[in-house]
Amino acid sequence: MFSLNVAGGEAGVDTIDLETAAMHHVMEIGLANTIKHKTELPCGAVATRGAVMIGKGVPTDFRLMQDPLHAEFNAGASARLDPTYRPVNVYDSEGKVVAGPPDTFRVGFEPCDNCQDWLATQPGIKRVAFILSRVDLANKGLVKPHPETIFERVERLGFPYTVEQLQDEELRGIGLSILDHVQRNPKTEVVTIKADPLKAILSNLRRKPVSTVLLPARRFA
Ligand SMILES: [Zn+2]
Repeated sequence: MFSLNVAGGEAGVDTIDLETAAMHHVMEIGLANTIKHKTELPCGAVATRGAVMIGKGVPTDFRLMQDPLHAEFNAGASARLDPTYRPVNVYDSEGKVVAGPPDTFRVGFEPCDNCQDWLATQPGIKRVAFILSRVDLANKGLVKPHPETIFERVERLGFPYTVEQLQDEELRGIGLSILDHVQRNPKTEVVTIKADPLKAILSNLRRKPVSTVLLPARRFA
């Protein structure tokens, strides 16, 4: 298990710190993956249970030629390898959760339909949060626009989690600036990047106190 030790230890982490730190980490691992492999869009995901991150992932579908391997899916797979993963919560004698599934997935981009469906099958899931919408990505020519947003679709299908697009202008600005240096061929889905400006954004992200405290590299990221 790795903790989000942002403000003096796990016990001192409040919800805002966790959200910001986790989302910085989401952006950092997604961008690092794109710079390293040059094949996937710069999307990361983390899976948390309370204030503890138990999984994280980046997309590997293109380089592994395996379709469902988006960041969300790999974060969920990573969580299952965590020693405290259980399909249902386990409590100690004081009622504190000591093991269980992730309750929250945080993702850089609005999850696609496949990932929305897959997330709905995950035990314990209560909330999905993201930074950039599908419209943001479509405006940059990176994905096809959909007629229905995740909010409408999740409500229509009665999925068991709430969805939130974080209103964090700084993170949103960083996300949009990353997309300025990424292109994807709409027919072949081949990604091309401008590495130098992306490396500069990554080193800026890593300079932020909230992202430097986070976790060692780990499976799928
Ligand atoms: Zn997806």
